[in-house]
Amino acid sequence: MAASVSPAALHSVTLQPTIVYGPVRSRRLGLSLGVNPLPARYKLCSFNCPYCQYPWTRERRPEVALRRGELPGRQAIVAAVERALRRLRRHGPRLNALTLAGNGEPTLHPEFPALMRDLCEVRARWYPRARLAVLSNSSTLGDPQVRAALELADDRLLKLDAGRPELFQKVNLPMPGITLDEIVRNLARTAGVTIQTMFIRGLVDNTQPKAVEAWQDCLMEIRPLAVQVYSLDRTPVAPGIEAVPRADLEAIGLETERRTGVPTGVY
Ligand code: SF4
Repeated sequence: MAASVSPAALHSVTLQPTIVYGPVRSRRLGLSLGVNPLPARYKLCSFNCPYCQYPWTRERRPEVALRRGELPGRQAIVAAVERALRRLRRHGPRLNALTLAGNGEPTLHPEFPALMRDLCEVRARWYPRARLAVLSNSSTLGDPQVRAALELADDRLLKLDAGRPELFQKVNLPMPGITLDEIVRNLARTAGVTIQTMFIRGLVDNTQPKAVEAWQDCLMEIRPLAVQVYSLDRTPVAPGIEAVPRADLEAIGLETERRTGVPTGVY
């Protein structure tokens, strides 16, 4: 097993202060224009992962952010995206993806289903070649409207970092009431998902053989289109969380593909 990656090799990221950000070069999506439907000044998320590139979760309830006027409305989001796509179409560079992500969990936006319909229209009008992607932590998939909205995306990149409940608690620090069992069940009934998994070591470690095996068992239940495994390339919010060396990630990727039959990429 190779040594851990030095924290000095990682770089920091601040919260996205605007609705549209980038385009950014993504290891998995190519040149991607980011869309942040969440508050500009803090992270709104149902998880509080110690490896997060953003500060600790400050709010988990979208209705509170909405009441305080801190969530951008659907029309403002769509107008910002439309302006950016129009500008990019005229002046480049060529975009590969339009990606809904931002400062936390994008599916928590109360208008997420309608927003997805609007984004499909705007994309078709200004940039039909760009893929529409959503990054989600999978915690809201129990809502059929969220699942139906996700089906409008070309790429559903959904998080699963652990296969055992106690490790899930440590790796993702979910909001009370969110269980791993439910997440796995909901992922299994969501069409065409790509699972994204962050592997970490140090204070929390999800790379031990038994932990990886339990996670692979979940993958066999979910039957995703593909799996993407990666480790830190940004400074984590919690000290003591360490990146997993590339050689170890590749070994996990190879073994996962062999055991589950699911194409597994290492990023
Ligand atoms: S789910 Fe994503 S945004 Fe939320 S805490 Fe975890 S890494 Fe950060």
